[in-house]
Amino acid sequence: MSLFEKNVVGVLGGGQLGRMLIEAANRLNIKVIVLDSENAPAKKIHAHGDHIAGKFTNKESIEELAKSCDVITVEIEHVNTYVLEGVSEKVMIEPSWRTIRTIQDKFLQKEHLRKHSIPVVPYREVRENTVEELAAIGEDLGYPFMLKSKTNAYDGRGNYPVRSKDDLGPSLDFLTDRPLYGEKWAPFKIELAVNVVQTKNGVLSFPTVETIHEDSICKLVYAPPRGVSSSIQKRAQELARKTVAAFEGKGVYGVEMFLLDDAAQTLLINEIAPRPHNSGHHTIESCGMSQYDAHLRAILDFPIPAKSLELRQPAVMLNILGGETRDSHLRITEAALSVPNASIHLYDKGDARPGRKMGHITVAGPTENAAQAAITPLIDLVDKLRA
Ligand code: ATP
Ligand code: MG
Ligand code: MG
Repeated sequence: MSLFEKNVVGVLGGGQLGRMLIEAANRLNIKVIVLDSENAPAKKIHAHGDHIAGKFTNKESIEELAKSCDVITVEIEHVNTYVLEGVSEKVMIEPSWRTIRTIQDKFLQKEHLRKHSIPVVPYREVRENTVEELAAIGEDLGYPFMLKSKTNAYDGRGNYPVRSKDDLGPSLDFLTDRPLYGEKWAPFKIELAVNVVQTKNGVLSFPTVETIHEDSICKLVYAPPRGVSSSIQKRAQELARKTVAAFEGKGVYGVEMFLLDDAAQTLLINEIAPRPHNSGHHTIESCGMSQYDAHLRAILDFPIPAKSLELRQPAVMLNILGGETRDSHLRITEAALSVPNASIHLYDKGDARPGRKMGHITVAGPTENAAQAAITPLIDLVDKLRA
């Protein structure tokens, strides 16, 4: 049987990650059926009548999707894993629903990592959501610490930095009615990320990158990371591969980590995503194969030459976020049109809201300096529009 015979892919979620997955699928004539709302960005670039309009948490919609696909994957982890478990006899789910269930709860994820001897920051479960209980956790972890929602967290929505005892009440008000845990503050020098591909034959990794967050939202990605030795980059890739190998299921995973400022240059895992990740957008331009190509190939058991995952040329990726005014993201995009080697990706999401990811720009260059110099005016513009 040809590899191309049984390859209809179902995706829960039709945002920008699903859209870029479809860009990769389109080049291989692979049909993708998206479950999301009517005008989801991913659906708009893949015309056929079989997309499903509905919520990726909805039982009937997921069951309908399962009927028409060979494999189901996700572009977001906040899906209904109980329904996925129910259909897993009939259709392959990659990565497995167990993995998605564990990862979508950041506390369960931490417990899983700890059991597999993966280094993480110390953390404490919050059971009663009272100021008294949180004060005891503050004593234990020290200040500042990060209060986090266990579930439905993304782009920092779900995190509250507790700087002192005075923040205990406000932090509980902010994260009211959510299941919580506390994390010790990680005094990191920089944040690194690695995209890992789990295949039927084992794990492969993309290059280590540096991520810069602003207000807990990813702003910039540097490939390779600035001022990080190649031995640390290699160590980060090894740790990321070990981390992903602790989970069941094929596909790309995003692994976020902290590089500490200590003598040992300790690496700690912050969190993982069971899907392609913002930190890997740059691979479209900088590697022989993008994380989206790799995800498709992994879930369909297509070959993935490890060499294709190496960095071909340095790159910097800048997210285009919605800003204070309705058109601030468009001003950045327009400026990018004149930047040599800037690849512009817009997600066709409609109206911007502050902090909403509307697109991204990747500038690749022959050297790190060249890529950084070319994108600097755009970063300056982003900072000016923010100020
Ligand atoms: P994502 O969009 O990546 O899924 P998220 O909402 O799950 O984000 P986290 O990754 O937990 O949020 O945190 C967002 C950012 O906040 C991190 O990238 C880091 O900059 C900072 N942060 C998170 N946890 C800690 C910690 N324990 N100590 C210090 N900084 C932290
Ligand atoms: Mg997260
Ligand atoms: Mg994160």
